[in-house]
Amino acid sequence: MEEIMRNDHVFHRDLLKQYPIITHGKGPYLYSEDGRRFLDACSGAVAANLGHGIKEIAEAMAEQAGKAAFVHTLRFETPVLYELSEKIAKLAPDPLKKVYFTSGGSEANESAIKLARQYHKDAGKPEKHVVIGRWQSYHGNTFGSLSAGGDIKRRQVYTPNLLDFKHIHSPNCLRCPFQREKKDCDKTQNWSCTASLEQLILEIGPQNVSAFITEPITGSQLGSVVPPESYFQEIRRICDRYDVLLIADEVMTGFGRTGKNFAIEHFSIIPDIITFGKGVSAGYAPLAGMIVHERIMDGLMQNSKGKFVHGYTYSGHPVSVAAGLAVLQIYEREKILENVRDAGKYLFDKLIDLKTRIPFIYDVRGMGLLLGIEFSADKAGTPFEPSLQLSERINEKAMELGAVFYPGNGTINGQMGDHLIVSPPLNCKKDELDELVQILENSMLLAI
Ligand code: PLP
Repeated sequence: MEEIMRNDHVFHRDLLKQYPIITHGKGPYLYSEDGRRFLDACSGAVAANLGHGIKEIAEAMAEQAGKAAFVHTLRFETPVLYELSEKIAKLAPDPLKKVYFTSGGSEANESAIKLARQYHKDAGKPEKHVVIGRWQSYHGNTFGSLSAGGDIKRRQVYTPNLLDFKHIHSPNCLRCPFQREKKDCDKTQNWSCTASLEQLILEIGPQNVSAFITEPITGSQLGSVVPPESYFQEIRRICDRYDVLLIADEVMTGFGRTGKNFAIEHFSIIPDIITFGKGVSAGYAPLAGMIVHERIMDGLMQNSKGKFVHGYTYSGHPVSVAAGLAVLQIYEREKILENVRDAGKYLFDKLIDLKTRIPFIYDVRGMGLLLGIEFSADKAGTPFEPSLQLSERINEKAMELGAVFYPGNGTINGQMGDHLIVSPPLNCKKDELDELVQILENSMLLAI
């Protein structure tokens, strides 16, 4: 193989780090030019949901690139655009049937926020403009999506000049931001995490609030925290009460990651907009978007002559869309949802077992193959010193041993909490999961 020379023209996220150079991938493994193999235990960033090197997807992309690599959706459509939109609409809950494409999840959330604004304006309520998001949630890195999210570290550099979006706390029963006990909430059916949404809407004035954006399962910030059972039903009721659109950010959870096509299905409610990304093309091409409720589309038709004042050059890019189509065909053919449920349970049980051996594992949680492990210094859950960066260290050790995880440290009641997301490809096999857990255990023992 030709020798690969590094140069210093790549503008990395961290200019002081040197990363392994990946030459190819096969299944759940990535291979670097220096002969190392990495088990992709987090599917990149919960994106490479079918693993690597699938020829069928590459060929579908090449075929489309050979026919028409790019057309602008302002002027043209393509057969693959129709095919993929129809497939996604069939997977989405009724009546969310219109599909809008973007390149990435941040753009998808920007689009949803803008559509919500236009919807209310067209309906004669131009003052309904405030977006409410959640602390400890992530919706992307563009100014709008960053403002909607609550990633303290990413927001810090741009504060105070982010957009004036408002926030409530994400639910986290293990470390309740309202210092309540789950059993008390259950008993009284009085949830501070939902009541705080209503309170904030009333403070801002319902006439000013346009949308509430939320991840169904809190991913990168908290490490796969599942909300209490009735959370979303109450959130839906509050949004309906005040004519606030509910945007479910399924960029990380969509297309089977949690064992259902969309994670919001676990909670039996219908959002107004679902945004998606990552899993739709399993990382083979930049592709994301939103699926929109018919009442918003009806509003757009009646009040705006069907015009959404928005769009990107690469919306509905034919090669990305062809990748998405090939990926969804594989999900269906390989009965991926069944595998997620089986493999997810297998992995979850193994991680619970690991918790009995590793004293600094505080919690194991999640759904399907979106699992999270949280660490603490003692059994009472005292977080480690942030400077220890335990999850980063565990991941560094794992990379030395041949696997990569998704470390994170979001803010928990003002303190940093360390977690790892474990999210292997959705078609992973049990022997690969055994290897994953073995490397994880060894890395944890070496890291502390
Ligand atoms: N929303 C969620 C829930 C995400 O996890 C992410 C990315 O991690 C995004 C939005 C942003 O997506 P992208 O990085 O494709 O812009």
